[in-house]
Amino acid sequence: MIPPIASRFVAGETPASAFEHVRETNESGVKVILNLLGEHYDNRAEADGDTAAYVDLVRDIGSTDLDACISVKPSQIGLDAGDRVFEENFRAIVEAGDRHGVFVWCDMEDYTTTDVTLDAFEELAREFEGGVGLCVQANLKRTKADLERLADVPGKIRLVKGAYDEPKEVAYKQKSKVNEAYREYLEFMFANFEGGIAVGSHDPKMIEYATDLHEEYGTDFEVQMLMGVREDAQRELVEQGYEVWQYAPYGGKWFSYFYRRVRERKENALFALRAVVGV
Ligand code: FAD
Repeated sequence: MIPPIASRFVAGETPASAFEHVRETNESGVKVILNLLGEHYDNRAEADGDTAAYVDLVRDIGSTDLDACISVKPSQIGLDAGDRVFEENFRAIVEAGDRHGVFVWCDMEDYTTTDVTLDAFEELAREFEGGVGLCVQANLKRTKADLERLADVPGKIRLVKGAYDEPKEVAYKQKSKVNEAYREYLEFMFANFEGGIAVGSHDPKMIEYATDLHEEYGTDFEVQMLMGVREDAQRELVEQGYEVWQYAPYGGKWFSYFYRRVRERKENALFALRAVVGV
């Protein structure tokens, strides 16, 4: 059972609790991206197990009227067990998404995985047009070139700042440099992308910049934020007419995800402390 202190960030341990969260969140117009927690399986059995769980999840989402889709991690569906395992499992999930009308996002992990993830995405995005999306990271120096490649691929792209502690040879380490790159890449996307843009950030400055770019270029976009982070802003953006998706993880492996959320931000740590000591 997930303690109340973690349930701010995690939508329960089971698909049923995740669906309950989607239903409640949809009531305020916020749509939900479900992610089954799990990563870095180096054996095929675990990767296949989570792939099967995603295929079932997609089928179940498709049989409801919920505004929900999914996001998968490459290392959860087999990348550490071999590129082929990842490619086959990613394909199986996207095929299921296509069968049941459910959109499939792919998260981006550390820089050593970028090439194989991009290649797998491009192949599937061309085959299942409009059914697949990929995350790219503004902190990686290569991302400008990747976006140029992705501009004519028919898939959605989620731009995030980047969550991994990458070597300085491949990534900007200063926050100001990452923010500068985020703005530059966002403008490139609004000017050149037709497949769909997702602004994956809680940063009010980046969201405001996206609304300015939307006015300038007329390109549509959606905002994506994490469950438990700036949920008031998520609802306000919906009220202002923007499309907002909340990324909501669920599943038994919730502890390390919760611990990361608490470590990355003072406010989250204080929230956790208050929940523990009851102040
Ligand atoms: P930050 O630079 O962390 O913060 C900027 C400002 O945002 C802050 O000054 C504050 O005003 C506001 N803010 C941020 N956090 C909070 C908070 N907890 N409470 C209140 N205000 C806050 N990374 C990957 O590497 N790969 C992925 O696949 C991936 N997928 C993601 C999917 C989604 C939907 C989201 C939202 C993020 C994802 N990330 C991913 C994580 C991302 O790379 C960043 O690490 C994370 O979003 C923090 O950056 P930020 O843009 O929110 O802003």
